[in-house]
Amino acid sequence: MSNQLTLQFLGGSGTVTGSKFLLTAGEDQFLLDCGLFQGLKEYRLRNWAPLPIRPKELRAVILTHAHIDHSGFLPKFVQQGFRGDVYATPATCDLLRVLLPDAAHLQEEEARYANQRGYSKHKPALPLYTVEDAYRSLDLLRRTNYSGEVELAQGVSLRFFRTGHILGAAAVRITLEIDGRKRYLVDSGDLGRYHRPILRDPDPVGQADWLLVESTYGDRIHPDKPEEELARVIHDVAEERGCLIIPSFAVGRTQELIYFIRQLEDQGRIPSLPVYVDSPMAINVTDIYCAHPEEHDLDMKLLMDQKLCPLCCRQFHLARSPEESRAINDLSGPLIIVSASGMATGGRVLHHLRLRLPDPRTTVLFVGFQAEGTRGRALQDGKKEIKMFGEMVPVRAKIKTIDGFSAHADQQEILRWLGNFTRAPQKTFVVHGEFPASSALAELIGKKLRWNTEIPKNGQRVILA
Ligand SMILES: [Zn+2]
Repeated sequence: MSNQLTLQFLGGSGTVTGSKFLLTAGEDQFLLDCGLFQGLKEYRLRNWAPLPIRPKELRAVILTHAHIDHSGFLPKFVQQGFRGDVYATPATCDLLRVLLPDAAHLQEEEARYANQRGYSKHKPALPLYTVEDAYRSLDLLRRTNYSGEVELAQGVSLRFFRTGHILGAAAVRITLEIDGRKRYLVDSGDLGRYHRPILRDPDPVGQADWLLVESTYGDRIHPDKPEEELARVIHDVAEERGCLIIPSFAVGRTQELIYFIRQLEDQGRIPSLPVYVDSPMAINVTDIYCAHPEEHDLDMKLLMDQKLCPLCCRQFHLARSPEESRAINDLSGPLIIVSASGMATGGRVLHHLRLRLPDPRTTVLFVGFQAEGTRGRALQDGKKEIKMFGEMVPVRAKIKTIDGFSAHADQQEILRWLGNFTRAPQKTFVVHGEFPASSALAELIGKKLRWNTEIPKNGQRVILA
């Protein structure tokens, strides 16, 4: 390979969603991550904007992990004619089989809703992509192990390195042979954390000539030992025989919470309460978590070897069907309900909140970031009533938040991961963060490591070599 090498930032820069980095090596184009923009409308509209990519000519897509903000644009590319290979780790491929059809289903529902209400400018409103597009994109997946180097084109190859963010999450290293010399481009994907349950710690990558590093929490340090706060909350709930509702993301967060609850039970630090996981997706994802021993840390492995599944508690109930979900309504405390969505923007958790928010013996516990404009944020802000299913529901429940359960590395953990590189990259691009977080991290990298950094703008194209 001897032609020009460029990188273009088409999402996931200046924001945390829509990750798409286009690498052009001579005639060949590769896309690192293929994420959907999510959140505020201003961002969601970007999913409809034209991209400087001809999907039919794109050689390959490489996915760092299964979260929709990194993978959820793939069915759109397939709809537009992309037929190349999609490389991802085996666990990521399995998670995508659950997540992509679900994302497509939501797109179809949204279009249907817009047509019913007549609020779309387009008549009829069309979904961004369909469930069929999602299934067609699954056919392109190439299961890629961590151990091997895979050739993408002549003189271009890839390798994945674990990041411990969610099951299957990896950093990707692209090796490029330029004028007989090996050069490396590394994309961190989303970085996970050290010494956390279930998943192995992030692996060191070694070298990079050009590095993209995420910065979601580039300006923050996570509180230590969130499980101790969790134990306190569960104690209080048991004492007043109340109901604890935990709105939780189906992928990763739910599994980690259940792991902690079980561990606290085993250590005799909390009374064992009935725990209901009310989210079909979380249940499917938990099965995938158990089926990938190559992802498990030592403790998880030992428990699995003893056939003690660490992802269920003593009094554990799963609600798959709507009937099973409704049956939870008749139960009185003490009990724990873990249900999606994590920001109470939709999903079955809304039914539980509508029923139990007016009861002062209810505690709602948030364990993840609550974005502006969500019901989760309104509750955190102390609103005395919130709107659900067209009616105002009074809030008499206690609202609590535990911050330390994040799946993203904090400032110190990012620096620790960067510290494993054997030499300074030629350029480090700080991506996947809102501006204050990215600039705080860039400044720190400059100060502590003396590396050359840049915060790329959306749409910016840089010549690497
Ligand atoms: Zn992620």
